Amino acid sequence: MKVPEVVVIGSGFSGLSAACFLARAGAKVTLVEKNATWGGRARLYEAQGFRFDMGPSWYWMPDVFERFFGHFGRKVSDQYTLQRLDPSYRIYFEGNRSLDVPASMVELEAIFEGLEPGSSVRLRQFLKESQIKYEAGIGDLVQRPGLSMFEYTNLTVLKGLLELDLLRSMKSYVARHFSHPDLVRLMEFPVLFLGAMPENTPALYSLMNYADLALGTWYPLGGMHKIVEAMVDLAESLGVQMKSNWEVTGFGYGPNGAIERVEGKTPQGISTVCCDAVVGGADYHHLDREVLEPEKSNYTERYWDRRKLAPSSLIFYIGLDRKLEGLLHHNLFFDADFGRHAREIYSDPRWPSDPLFYVCRASATDPTVAPEGMDNVFVLIPTAPGLEDTPSAREPYLSTVLQRIEQRCGFNPEPHIVHLRSYAHRDFVEDYHSYKGNAYGLANTLDQTAVLKPSIKSKKVPNLWFTGQLTNPGPGVPPALISGEVVSRALLKHYSMEL
Ligand SMILES: Cc1cc2nc3c(=O)[nH]c(=O)nc-3n(C[C@H](O)[C@H](O)[C@H](O)COP(=O)(O)OP(=O)(O)OC[C@H]3O[C@@H](n4cnc5c(N)ncnc54)[C@H](O)[C@@H]3O)c2cc1C
Repeated sequence: MKVPEVVVIGSGFSGLSAACFLARAGAKVTLVEKNATWGGRARLYEAQGFRFDMGPSWYWMPDVFERFFGHFGRKVSDQYTLQRLDPSYRIYFEGNRSLDVPASMVELEAIFEGLEPGSSVRLRQFLKESQIKYEAGIGDLVQRPGLSMFEYTNLTVLKGLLELDLLRSMKSYVARHFSHPDLVRLMEFPVLFLGAMPENTPALYSLMNYADLALGTWYPLGGMHKIVEAMVDLAESLGVQMKSNWEVTGFGYGPNGAIERVEGKTPQGISTVCCDAVVGGADYHHLDREVLEPEKSNYTERYWDRRKLAPSSLIFYIGLDRKLEGLLHHNLFFDADFGRHAREIYSDPRWPSDPLFYVCRASATDPTVAPEGMDNVFVLIPTAPGLEDTPSAREPYLSTVLQRIEQRCGFNPEPHIVHLRSYAHRDFVEDYHSYKGNAYGLANTLDQTAVLKPSIKSKKVPNLWFTGQLTNPGPGVPPALISGEVVSRALLKHYSMEL
């Protein structure tokens, strides 16, 4: 049988993952990427001796990474050095309170007990249940392609889904266990990674609490981009042809309507790659509505407009000429009105009036990401997607953030800024063709779960598949790795090949 030639679009985690799986199965794979560098939203930005991870900074679910590299006979420890952070992170609350979340379960239970007597027993029970959900969710549910309801309608799976609290909200589930507001905030926080509020997120996703509190927060020395580098190395070793600065602009079709040619823009001019199949790892909406001809789109513009997107972000990459002592590696500034900021993201989209934000100080752990004696500071403010992004809209937030940092650390970082870059909606659109400037894809709400997510398979073009954070299983680095695996398995099945 002829070896299928597959073009993978995009070098984000999902595209890289798909390229590796397909190449290992024997396909001839070409990966094309519009940008000059690899990694998509996890690219590296280097300036004045600072090395900033542009997107993800939380390394959760280490088992998923281990499993990914294990498929190829590699170990994470041979690719990069992982360090468990302890404390995992700090939350700043209103009223000058803060909470350091320890790696040790004994210490964590003591904190719970101190804030709410009796809660350590409930925490143990909560985590036992979330472990079951984690094992069922990550070990089974996310591996299903979500192409048909039949994947979920066998009785055991259905019963399991109900036991997994698919129909209860994360908010009510947490409220059933804890009442101290700081504990509630701590237990609700991880689902924010999934792009929706706890009231709109199924309690199935308390599996994220297990990932957070039991499996822990890790850091790959050198930064998150080390994962990208390891995956590019793996892809090349498997024979994947990697083409950067290669932006897909259209497809050429054969008589049966299948894609025969991928057409793209390169600095040297228009280029084409012949293929038997295509895996689209670029933003789904872009491929569906901007690259495909309208009659070949899977979904209408109205469909896309009605999707609940995960937030966009306003990010500041800041280089400081001194150490911002007092901040940990991961710091959540939940010291403002949570409800108001949430409304300004989800129900009444606007630039936030008094935002919550996140500060990553990777140089607290890793001296290689900043010049000696200096600090690498990444600030992220979640924002509604689709906002009008102008310099004047971004402008007030830097001083807001710096003032709130000063209140906690006791010194004003502003005079120490030696490098500053802001990044928001316009950049997401320009760099990644992101729909409405979203940062994390599609929210994991109940009505956007499994078969209800945009399909991994085109309904109109027989050899076109989709992967990445706008399809199954959803946003985040571990889901993107899994997404590449799931789409590869489905595509290979089509060619009677195995993963
Ligand atoms: C600011 C930020 C912080 C985050 N924090 C975390 C975190 O801490 N932990 C975590 O687990 N997750 C985090 N995430 C989410 C995680 O990074 C993403 O879910 C994941 O990286 C998405 O991977 P992807 O492959 O789906 O998409 P992408 O990384 O966007 O990859 C898509 C690729 O397609 C390319 N492309 C687009 N159009 C074309 C075209 N026409 N031709 C060729 N190529 C094209 C793009 O340039 C891009 O490289 C964060 C995301 C952001 C943005």
